[in-house]
Amino acid sequence: MTLPELEALMLSLGEPKYRGAQLYKWLYAIGAGSFDEMSNLPQALRERLAAGFSPDCLRMVAREAAKDGTAKYLFELQDGLRIETVYMPEGERSTVCLSTQVGCPLGCAFCATGSMGLRRDLLAGEIIEQAIQVRRERPGITNVVFMGMGEPLLNYEHTLKAVRLLNDGVGIGARRMTISTSGVVPGIRRLAREGLQVKLAVALNASRDDLRNILMPVNRRYPLSVLKQAMQDFARATGKLVSVEYVLLQGVNDSQREARELVQFLRGIPCKVNLIPYNPVPGKEFARPSPERAERFKQYLLPHLSSVTLRRSRGRTVRAACGQLCTRTTSRRARPALRERATISPKIPPRPDPSHS
Ligand code: SAH
Ligand code: SF4
Repeated sequence: MTLPELEALMLSLGEPKYRGAQLYKWLYAIGAGSFDEMSNLPQALRERLAAGFSPDCLRMVAREAAKDGTAKYLFELQDGLRIETVYMPEGERSTVCLSTQVGCPLGCAFCATGSMGLRRDLLAGEIIEQAIQVRRERPGITNVVFMGMGEPLLNYEHTLKAVRLLNDGVGIGARRMTISTSGVVPGIRRLAREGLQVKLAVALNASRDDLRNILMPVNRRYPLSVLKQAMQDFARATGKLVSVEYVLLQGVNDSQREARELVQFLRGIPCKVNLIPYNPVPGKEFARPSPERAERFKQYLLPHLSSVTLRRSRGRTVRAACGQLCTRTTSRRARPALRERATISPKIPPRPDPSHS
C-alpha cells in the first residue's frame, strides 16, 4: 500500500491521518514483522490491526545458502503459489533479486521459469515484501534487480508501483534498481517516459533473429531491429547505459560467429555487456561452456565494446538460476487447487493485508 492508501485506511478506521505515515515507516523503512513492534501506535490500534490484517503477505518456506554468500529464498503466497528470491552479497554491495510473476508466459527455451507458464502476476506488495523479508535476515541491502521469476514489463503497473515503494518507503534509491526484460518493446518505451532513475537490462542471448526466435519466442513479436531501436531510444531518453545480459549456452550462442554478431548488433547502442555462464536446468539440453570458452568469447568482445564482464557463477549450489528452486519444490497439486480458488468463492474471505497493494 502506498502512503495515501495507508492514510485512507487509518481514516476509515477512525484514526488520525498521521497514523498512516507511522505505519508506512514501520512496514517499509523498518520492515516490522508484527504490529506489536510498532511502539508509537496505541495498543488498542495495534490489537485492532492484528485482528484484521497481517503485515506480511509472504511466508518463507525454504532457504538455501551457498558458500559464496548467495542465498535463495522460497516464499509461499497467500493462495499457495510459490516464488523465489535470491540474495547476492558482493563486496560493499548486497543485491536482492526479486520475482515479479509466478512463472512467466514467454517460454524461453533455456529457462526453468519459462517452462512453468504464467500462473499469475504478483502484486506490488508481494514484490516488495521479498526485499523486506530478506532484509530482516540480512540487513544492508543496497541494490535491487527485477531478474527473478517472471517478465517485469508484462506486469508493468505492479512492478513500477514496487519501484516507487522500494524507493520512497524502503529507502533503496531508484538508481540502484535494475529492471530486466527479455525485450518487451512497449514496456521499454513506457519505462523510458517515466522519468525514473531505474536502470534497464535486456536479456539478449542471441543477436540474429533465427536463433533468437528459437531461444526467446518473444523475438517473433519484437524482432531484433525493433528491440535495437527501443534500446537506443531508452539510452537517449534516460542518459543511461543499457545493460545487455548474454547467457552463454555451450555450442549454441558462444562461438566466434555469435561474438561477431553481438558486436555488430550492439553498434550504436550505449551499453555494457554482462556475460553469464548458463546455469544448467534439469531436463533442458543446454549446457554451460567451459571457463576457457567463455573467456575466449569475452576476449573477442573486449576491443569492440566499452564494458564487458564475465559474471562468475553465483550460488551454483543453491540452483540460483531463475525458477529452479521453485520448479523443484512446487507441488503439482497446486495447479487444480488454484483453479478451484479461481472459480469457487472461498469459504473464509482472505484477510485484507496492509502490505498488499
Ligand atoms: N524475464 C526477465 C527477467 C527474469 S530472467 C528477463 O528475461 O530478462 C533474468 C535473467 O536470467 C535473463 O537474463 C535470463 O536470460 C537469465 N536466465 C534465465 N535462465 C537462466 C539460466 N538457467 N542460467 C543463467 N541465466 C538464466
Ligand atoms: Fe521469462 Fe525471462 Fe525466463 Fe524468458 S528468461 S522465460 S522472459 S523469466
